[in-house]
Amino acid sequence: MAQKRPFYPADDPDLPPPPEGYRDAIFVRPITDFLRCIFCQSVMKDAVVLGCECSPSACKECAEAWFLRNKGEKICPQGRHPIIMVAPNRPIRQLVQDLLVRCFHHREGCHWEGRLEELEGSHITRECPKAPVSCPYNPETCPAQGKLLRQDLETHRLACPNAPVDCPHCKIPFARRLMESHLAACPTAPAGCPQCGSKTLTRATIEKHMQDECPKGLVACPVPHCPMSGHVTREALAVHMVEGVCVHIDALIRQNEELRGAVAALKTAAEGLISRNTALEQQNTQLTAQMAALTARMDAFEARNPPPPPRPVLTDEAVVWDPDCKEATLVLSEGNRTISSTVGAHQSALGTVGWSAGIHRWRVRVISGPHWVGLGVHPKPRGGGADYTTAYGSSHIAQLYQGKYVGDSGIRYGVGDVVACVLDCASHVLTMNVNGNEPTLTIADIPQGTYYPWVNLHSAVSVTAI
Ligand SMILES: [Zn+2]
Ligand SMILES: [Zn+2]
Ligand SMILES: [Zn+2]
Ligand SMILES: [Zn+2]
Ligand SMILES: [Zn+2]
Ligand SMILES: [Zn+2]
Ligand SMILES: [Zn+2]
Repeated sequence: MAQKRPFYPADDPDLPPPPEGYRDAIFVRPITDFLRCIFCQSVMKDAVVLGCECSPSACKECAEAWFLRNKGEKICPQGRHPIIMVAPNRPIRQLVQDLLVRCFHHREGCHWEGRLEELEGSHITRECPKAPVSCPYNPETCPAQGKLLRQDLETHRLACPNAPVDCPHCKIPFARRLMESHLAACPTAPAGCPQCGSKTLTRATIEKHMQDECPKGLVACPVPHCPMSGHVTREALAVHMVEGVCVHIDALIRQNEELRGAVAALKTAAEGLISRNTALEQQNTQLTAQMAALTARMDAFEARNPPPPPRPVLTDEAVVWDPDCKEATLVLSEGNRTISSTVGAHQSALGTVGWSAGIHRWRVRVISGPHWVGLGVHPKPRGGGADYTTAYGSSHIAQLYQGKYVGDSGIRYGVGDVVACVLDCASHVLTMNVNGNEPTLTIADIPQGTYYPWVNLHSAVSVTAI
């Protein structure tokens, strides 16, 4: 036999362990050398031919390992020729498959012999009692996994914690390791009644039996106040009802007395409630009368003191002097807002808009003078004759006219001053002040009517409404 593995050192840590063909030990007869792999020297497994000048044959895996070792370069291991193709060596494969072999497990005691094809095709996978097998239940958690032989499978079924076992009560299969906890909860597990000793009960039915059915269970007597109530068993209740007539009559008499007492107490309580109700009704009548009197008083008070009308809102007015309602000697300018006098006599003019309701404020600035300037309000049209004796308002700032001369009431102003006038039509009051300061001049007795802003000028004076 040739030297083993001439091209494939087994000690290279970067390479996978070297593959190998079929070992000699399984073959019944001596092996001819041309069936041996050029690499591993064992009988070729899945033989291939390497296409080069010398065309050697090898195991398929040994050839692939060789190419890997040469970093993918395909060269012949004998003559370093380039390999142009790798193809299955079918004649050799058939020869090898037909060789007479022992079982792989002959050392463990399997005495099977036959063709290599049968060994791999059926004996090992389905028959060999010495072949290792997986646990059929749950190999991942089976403690015997990796140690099981086919011949041990039946014994293992009786011990594997994952093998299914039928519950003896409900017949449902559970994994052996779960059976203990299932038995502790299985609803069909038998349960004995501790009172009557019945053996036909289960975990699911015993509670209802104890509560509603057990003949030895203690029950209440339907007759109230029966001294035996709670001491009679369910099965003895019928007899108790017959034999206990005297006891029951006594109990009923006692109950009757108690009921009489209760009725009397209820009657007393009802009488109390009726008398309280009567008192409350009387009180209610009195309170209703008091309320009616108070309502009448309140109505009378409200009639005597009607609520004040809502206060009108003060409106700022932009006054324009009326060219049709002025002395001819007065001159208007700046959109009829400025009015000027040039002659030494009292002359007056009215604004274009008058008011009979609400509160109205307008402002006038003195822009030259000072001489005689009167401000105030006046009905329209003006009465005939001189304003001096007919107008409502003032001649110069402090002198008021209300159909007659009143006298000097005293606030003075000069050039640049602003006089503000406020007419309150509801209270018939006209107020005036200079530059927003006190004192305020008040004319409080203006008769009902429609009033227009009024200006009275004497000599060289002008004012502007702003
Ligand atoms: Zn080989
Ligand atoms: Zn070659
Ligand atoms: Zn075998
Ligand atoms: Zn198992
Ligand atoms: Zn069960
Ligand atoms: Zn019972
Ligand atoms: Zn009773």
